[in-house]
Amino acid sequence: MTANLLDFDLDGLAVFCEQLGEKRFRATQLFRWIHQRGAQDFAQMTDLAKSLRDKLKTCAEVKALTPISRHDSADGTIKWLFDVGEGNAVETVFIPEDDRGTLCVSSQAGCAVGCRFCSTGHQGFSRNLSTGEILSQLWFAEHTLRQQFKTTERVISNVVMMGMGEPLQNYSALVPALRAMLDDHGYGLSRRRVTVSTSGVVPMMDRLGEDCPVALAVSLHAPIDTLRDNLVPLNRKYPLQELMQACRRYLAHAPRDFITFEYCMLDGVNDQAEHALALIDLVKSHGVSCKFNLIPFNPFPASGLTRSSNAAVKAFAEVLVSAGIVTTVRKTRGDDIDAACGQLAGDVKDRTDVQSRIAKQRVIPLTQVL
Ligand code: SAH
Ligand code: SF4
Repeated sequence: MTANLLDFDLDGLAVFCEQLGEKRFRATQLFRWIHQRGAQDFAQMTDLAKSLRDKLKTCAEVKALTPISRHDSADGTIKWLFDVGEGNAVETVFIPEDDRGTLCVSSQAGCAVGCRFCSTGHQGFSRNLSTGEILSQLWFAEHTLRQQFKTTERVISNVVMMGMGEPLQNYSALVPALRAMLDDHGYGLSRRRVTVSTSGVVPMMDRLGEDCPVALAVSLHAPIDTLRDNLVPLNRKYPLQELMQACRRYLAHAPRDFITFEYCMLDGVNDQAEHALALIDLVKSHGVSCKFNLIPFNPFPASGLTRSSNAAVKAFAEVLVSAGIVTTVRKTRGDDIDAACGQLAGDVKDRTDVQSRIAKQRVIPLTQVL
């Protein structure tokens, strides 16, 4: 069987090399060729012994995802659609800013959580991506952009696991990919610059804190269980009390001394002053030090929801700020190419009942009085 070397973090590659009778430092060299120089062809790796290169040719490959399409936004945002086989495709978005380049990476083809306001959720779930499929989004984007910008310097400084999918429902593939991102022989990103965003898979938040503590963003979207049950169905399994306790536990490991709460602003649903006050209560009563990132809802046809007005977002932010909570409003980037948060739909062959579940949920009225 041919191994895909993009499936390994450095420890995994070292084990693979040992099986070929090679020392760990050979794995380090190989890892650097692949991730730092973007090499795919073993013949190019001239500081490896010819015998090893020949051996690798027979049992290994560096197999990256192939892009089906690329869209460039007027604001510099780039979106790639990658083929992951059997009619599925996932999306990856590069967001350039003055002081950083952020890559938004997908972890699954579709998503089984089925959040009401999310285009990926509406697509249903097909399958988990492998480590190699997660990592090759970074591998491809980094090396393509270096060539495009004619630089040997790093282009991507930040990775956010905020593309399609719930990363903590694909834990075993996620962690080696994160480790390769952090590895000095890989992409050398600091833990503060790699963010896992989760809708709140409580047990896996604990494991991530132990195994690979990177920056954590939690998609909150509601201050009370009745409303959150409705927006983020996973809340029925891991309600807010449990989620807050898990956030607090994570802080003991986190590379930053706060959790980022993401909050998608939905007109008339979760955007009133009472909601902001209830959020303050929630986070303060659990002693979770946090920042809020308000995301103006990016509409898509099937959602039946609308974006809060700018005035409502501003007023909401002011309530949080006046309670001493740092609050930012996410700038919408790449919406002209459907690359903004929640617009990533890729192409998913649903293998679950997510679509029918969402259709059923739609009969529940969304507006809740606190
Ligand atoms: N599954 C993970 C990560 C992917 S979603 C999670 O839910 O956190 C990344 C972010 O985009 C989440 O905060 C999600 O709530 C937000 N999002 C989803 N749909 C959106 C939409 N239509 N408009 C704005 N933000 C959205
Ligand atoms: Fe899945 Fe996140 Fe979308 Fe919810 S918001 S459906 S968890 S990708």
